[in-house]
Amino acid sequence: MPTASALRFVGAPTWEALSGHSVSSEVWDDVPAVQHVSLGRWADLVFVAPATAHLLARAAAGMADDLLTTSLLTATCPVVMAPAMHTEMWMHPATQANVATLRARGVRVVEPAVGRLTGSDSGSGRLPEPADLARLVSDVLGGSQHDLVGRRVVISAGGTREPLDPVRYLGNRSSGRQGWALAQRALARGAEVVLVAAHVDLPAPPGVRVVQVGTALEMLDAVRAEAAGADAIVMAAAVADFRPAAYSDGKIKKADDGSDPAPVVLVRNPDILAELVERRADGQVIVGFAAETAESPDSLLSLGRSKIARKGCDLLVVNDVSEGRVFGSEDSEVAILGADGTTVATAQGSKSAVADTVWDAVAKRLA
Ligand code: C5P
Repeated sequence: MPTASALRFVGAPTWEALSGHSVSSEVWDDVPAVQHVSLGRWADLVFVAPATAHLLARAAAGMADDLLTTSLLTATCPVVMAPAMHTEMWMHPATQANVATLRARGVRVVEPAVGRLTGSDSGSGRLPEPADLARLVSDVLGGSQHDLVGRRVVISAGGTREPLDPVRYLGNRSSGRQGWALAQRALARGAEVVLVAAHVDLPAPPGVRVVQVGTALEMLDAVRAEAAGADAIVMAAAVADFRPAAYSDGKIKKADDGSDPAPVVLVRNPDILAELVERRADGQVIVGFAAETAESPDSLLSLGRSKIARKGCDLLVVNDVSEGRVFGSEDSEVAILGADGTTVATAQGSKSAVADTVWDAVAKRLA
């Protein structure tokens, strides 16, 4: 159902020849079939791509002045919209308010990609790649659960780096893969997803808003800002517990006399998870991760139990990282503990499968 504007970009004969179906943008065509009602009722999915700022505004206002908008009012199936526009239009409070209205009604509005736009400019507002949108559509149609529709989730991923001087830092081996999988599965299950990422060398998952951070303190600021209004927060990032007490503006040099450098003094970073728990909004679900090395499954679980008691989060995903397991690998094996320390689920397999088990537990608590 092209809009009148869409037909200025691509003519009806092209749509008809490629799809093998007649197309219409008007409610006044084929009136005996009452298309303006029947198409929306008939659909398994309404997918609007690209969704312009104008279309989002019309849909948010419930206007019904062409075939697409009348169909949006009669459709009871899932509705997915992939906005595409210039950055200023996307960021405008009017557009953002319309997106919030649509999401509150259960419409899945995908985050636009960042990149080249229609003119010579670049920024947020690009239509995600068609193959990524196709995958999302098949997720929606393929029976993925939709238990996170209308929910806003914040996920931290990757590993923070704590700088010592302009070239050196204290870091860790987190790849960010588990956080990425959590983001992709939450999106597939209908959530609006914000990923706070520290040094993750993976392409941004399409449809997810990524906030890049470097250090633990930057992650604290970003997560704190995004936590307001979030239904669930999953702290999958490996946050450095310590940072160098002092940062040297110049590179720390080797001494000419061969003497050892001054010891590096470390100070503690704030515990982001603990702070989130302290400020938790009513009904918000907070999930922590615990990467432990343990002698046996039992001692792993008892480490997990004492950690969740200490941290006060709702769920703790415990995994064994001894002997290079988990970090950077495709697979994982976890136990998920509830606030009282009992094991509520276990998962083994791809990080995507683990992510789904985490969201199952979160969705149950949100419900
Ligand atoms: O205490 P530990 O570092 O093992 O706890 C891990 C959990 O706490 C993870 O969810 C991690 O993201 C979070 N964390 C945090 N802030 C820190 C250290 C860890 O939020 N400074």
